[in-house]
Amino acid sequence: MKVGVIGGTGFYNLLDQVNEMTVDTEYGEILVYQGEHAGKEVYFIPRHGASHDSLAHQVNYKGIITAMTKLGVEKVLGMCAVGSLTLDIPVGGFALLNQFVDVTTKRDNTFGKYSCDMSTPYCPDLRNDFIQSAENLNIYLYHNATYICVDGPRYETSAEIKLYASWGMHVVGMTNATEAALAREAGLCYSVVTMASDIAAGITDTPPDLAMHKKVINENKDKMANLILNAISNVTEDSTCGCKAAYERAIKAREDKLKKAGVAN
Ligand SMILES: [Zn+2]
Repeated sequence: MKVGVIGGTGFYNLLDQVNEMTVDTEYGEILVYQGEHAGKEVYFIPRHGASHDSLAHQVNYKGIITAMTKLGVEKVLGMCAVGSLTLDIPVGGFALLNQFVDVTTKRDNTFGKYSCDMSTPYCPDLRNDFIQSAENLNIYLYHNATYICVDGPRYETSAEIKLYASWGMHVVGMTNATEAALAREAGLCYSVVTMASDIAAGITDTPPDLAMHKKVINENKDKMANLILNAISNVTEDSTCGCKAAYERAIKAREDKLKKAGVAN
């Protein structure tokens, strides 16, 4: 079976042997590394391009999700860096997303065809695969993180962070709500593990620092790679989740609506 992985640029060598390829989509060419792991065909897409040249608000989200669909991938594992809003998720700590709140306003975040059910935004099956992997590898994983997605590229003010923390948000980032929403609209199963590269401004006295961010990611990169690889082994063809059903319901509702409009005309 095929498994997709979307992650940071530093993970392009997640697999031992990869073929570099590009997939043409209506949103542009997408760079893909194809390889194998645990008897599965794996397609890794570096979210920010080969050399991390696109900032969060410039990422070709629609191209990436479309490329996965074109490759015939139905299950996608994601990883991304976040700022932590709680001391329960320490610097370098891993958190599995369970919900998100999207406060972005300046990006194209929909294929615009259906209104999809997002009450469970992340695939429960893939979430379980990650939880199982963390147990297998004895890695601490915070299971039920709520993510707030901001436009960026600037970091948040201390007042914003205090507000988000008071809303019950656990981690903040600039990419995930967009990616998760588009994955659902495309009928993909999708789940993501985050790595806290810092404690967000205002939670501690330490200001965000790009050098520290890179250092933390480098120090925890192997652990994250092992978690992803183990999760790939755990992914099965069978689904007990409602991801695809949510997508199919959305298509049906749209078709019914158009039919009705047709009749009314
Ligand atoms: Zn699913």
